[in-house]
This record gives sequence, C-alpha cells and structure tokens, in this order.
Amino acid sequence: MTIDIHDIEAIIQQQDTWRQTQTINLIASENTPSEAVRRVQTSDFMGRYAEGHPNEGEQVNRYYQGTRYIDQIERMAEQELLKLFHARQADVRPISGNAANTALALSILRGGDTVIANSTDAGGHISHGAVGVFGRRIQNRGQSLKIGGEHSINLHYLPLTEDRYHVDAQKTIELVDQLNPQLVILGKSLFLFPEPVSEIAAFCKTKEIPVLYDGAHVLGLVAGGQFQSPLQEGATWMTGSTHKTFPGPQRGVILSNLEDAAAIKKYWQPADRGVFPGSSSNHHLHTLPALLVATREMQRYGHEYAAQIVRNAQALGRSLDELGTPVEAREFGYTRSHMIAVNVAQWGGGVEVARRLEESDIILNYNMLPGDADPRNPSGLRIGVSEMTRFGMDEHSMAELAQLIHESVRGKNVKSQVNALRARYVEMKYI
Ligand SMILES: *Cc1c(COP(=O)(O)O)cnc(C)c1O
Repeated sequence: MTIDIHDIEAIIQQQDTWRQTQTINLIASENTPSEAVRRVQTSDFMGRYAEGHPNEGEQVNRYYQGTRYIDQIERMAEQELLKLFHARQADVRPISGNAANTALALSILRGGDTVIANSTDAGGHISHGAVGVFGRRIQNRGQSLKIGGEHSINLHYLPLTEDRYHVDAQKTIELVDQLNPQLVILGKSLFLFPEPVSEIAAFCKTKEIPVLYDGAHVLGLVAGGQFQSPLQEGATWMTGSTHKTFPGPQRGVILSNLEDAAAIKKYWQPADRGVFPGSSSNHHLHTLPALLVATREMQRYGHEYAAQIVRNAQALGRSLDELGTPVEAREFGYTRSHMIAVNVAQWGGGVEVARRLEESDIILNYNMLPGDADPRNPSGLRIGVSEMTRFGMDEHSMAELAQLIHESVRGKNVKSQVNALRARYVEMKYI
C-alpha cells in the first residue's frame, strides 16, 4: 500500500495555478526559475552528502565516498560563476544568502567587535541588525548590544545623505576612521541605488578593514552588468542569494576577487571555513545542478534580462507617481534596480494596503521606509518586477499594472483585471 498524498498534491496544484497563472507577483526577493532549473532538481543528489571540496585526482578533499559526479557539478558551478562575475574565488556551498552571511560573521567577527551596516529602516537586512547574525556575533554574553548614538559600541549605522536613499560616502569614511570597525557591510534589502563601494573600500583598504557587499537582492543585476560591480570596485567579498534577481534555485554564494596570497589567506580561507564546517555541512546537493543551469541562462541572457528589469522598475515608478500614488526617490528617477518603494501611509499604511492588494491577486510586501520608527506600522510597499519581467512584461504592461495597483491601493477590487493581465504573460523569456 502506498501512502496517500492526494491532499498534499492538491495543495501544491492550487499553489502552482494561483501563483504561476493568476497572481501578479511583485515580491522583490522572489522569482520563478525556468523549467530546466526545476527539472534538474529531482535527482539522486537529493539524498547525498558531499562535505568539503571536490576531490582533485588523487587528492582527497571530501569526507565521504561516492562524490565523483557532484565533484564535477561543483567544480563547473564554481568555474562558470567565476566567469560570470569576473571573480577569482567562489564558494557555491552556502544554502542561502543568510547562510553565506553567517559563514562570514562566524569566521571574521568575535564578541565585542564593531560593525557598520545599513539600519533596518534604511533598508538593511535583518541579518545585519542587532537580532541578526552579525549583531548576535558581536554581542558579548550578558551585555546588551549598543546601537548607533555617540557613545555606542558594536553596531553602527551607515550615514545617509539627506534624501535617505543613498549612503553618504564621506561621512562613512569619517565614521570608519573614528571607529576602526572589524567590518563594513554595504548592500541591503530595500535597495534602489548602487552603494558608494569604490570610495568606502579604498579608504577601508588603507586601514585593512574588510568590506562585505551583500548582493542578495541585486546578484542578477550585477551578473547582467546593470547595477554595479562590487568586487571590481573593491569589496572584499560579495554574498548573494541565487533566487532573487538571479533566477536560480534557493541557494547562496560568496564571491571574491582577491589577487595576492596574503589577502587570500586573510580573507578567503576564513570564509571557506565559515561555510564548512561553519554555516553548512550538507549543502543540499540536488539544487547545485540547478544553480549551474541558471548561471548559464544568465551568461547567455543576463544582460538583456537585467536591462529590461531596470527599465520596467523605472517605468512602473513613473506611471504610479504620475497617477498620484507617491513613489519614493522621484528626484533620482525612482530606482536603478529591480524595485521601487511606494508610500501608502495615507491609505492605511503598508500592512493594510498589502493585504488589500492580495485580495486582487497582486502579491507584494509591506516595508519600512527611511524614517519609519515602528516596524509593525510601516508606511511603505516594496514592489519588485524581476519575476513579471521574466514572463515578458515590458514598459507598456507596467503602465497597465500601475493603473491596477493605483486603484487597488484605494480600495477597489481589481482581481478580474489582474487575472486577465497575468493571463497574457505566462510564457517565460530569457531562457
Ligand atoms: C534576502 C536577503 C538575505 C538573505 O538571503 P536568503 O537567501 O533569504 O537567506 C541577505 N541579505 C539581504 C540584503 C537580503 O535582502
């Protein structure tokens, strides 16, 4: 007798129909991988282990036998990612962006260290904050973490320019000079404009302070040459999620472009040990071939895909703003990335409006905007266009979408129009 799984399959079927054919998904951290990326994930690798690194000829780098084929896949994934990102070091084993960050936090930082990163309300990721892996790592037992402020230790926030959507490079350099932190983290989750990596990294280098660029969100845009090139601009490492703008399986990577042996010893070897035996042991082998497939898709179509994403995000920002739904950072053209931020405070705030939009099958998330004090009452929506761009939406469809968001924000149910618009865009491009 086989186990009855009809009920489970029925739920999956509902999910697939709803999220793949009916909803318009605007969650900036999500994407739909291609059929090829999905297909290669159901192999024997699903049940296997491969700790360590691929064996090389007679040299044993694994802790288990039976790894000859995952060794090939892992080497290929490393090599092809290095090529795509013009990098010198790649670790493909972190199972997510957070696991990649955890690897670095474990290996680089100790209790009592000082870190400068983006604050949550300025778009920083939870892993950078007091309750995240970086904050936890530098907190000493029995002491509370002191954040910001003049007499604070430990965790400090990157100074922003007056518009609050750009890191102030000069003030950051002054802060680094004053605090001598163990780590500076650039990159964030509400990520509209490139970070001033070159200026900050150049100064940090004179003090031998490493710079982490958290490219979780923008990894696909970086791969497509449409955002910034953090490693070439001097970041010590770039971490990333491989499933946000980079349309692969849910995994993570760490990349570096370190040239001399001393730097490799100082920064790459700890990162390597931070991944294993640090933040992961078994690295979910069945999803690694899928990362390799997505890497090839980005090698071939990344430039075109990323360029259309940015054009769409800017078009959506412009259309919404012109209709009268205020979009942040207007004076800078709304965005240079895959997402925009919309202020919906006057229609009940982010939580309420995001729920209202879901009733019309528009799926997105509420978000704090710079200056928001209460994370439970955020005034914004974060809107990302990576997934709908993959399904073929262009600037014209963005104008149609803007109209539907505009009406839905104000309480009109537009579900049937949303479903009809989505039905025109179900075939994946850039694959
Ligand atoms: C999403 C995100 C992460 C975490 O990545 P996961 O792959 O979800 O673990 C880390 N940093 C930033 C800036 C992010 O936006």
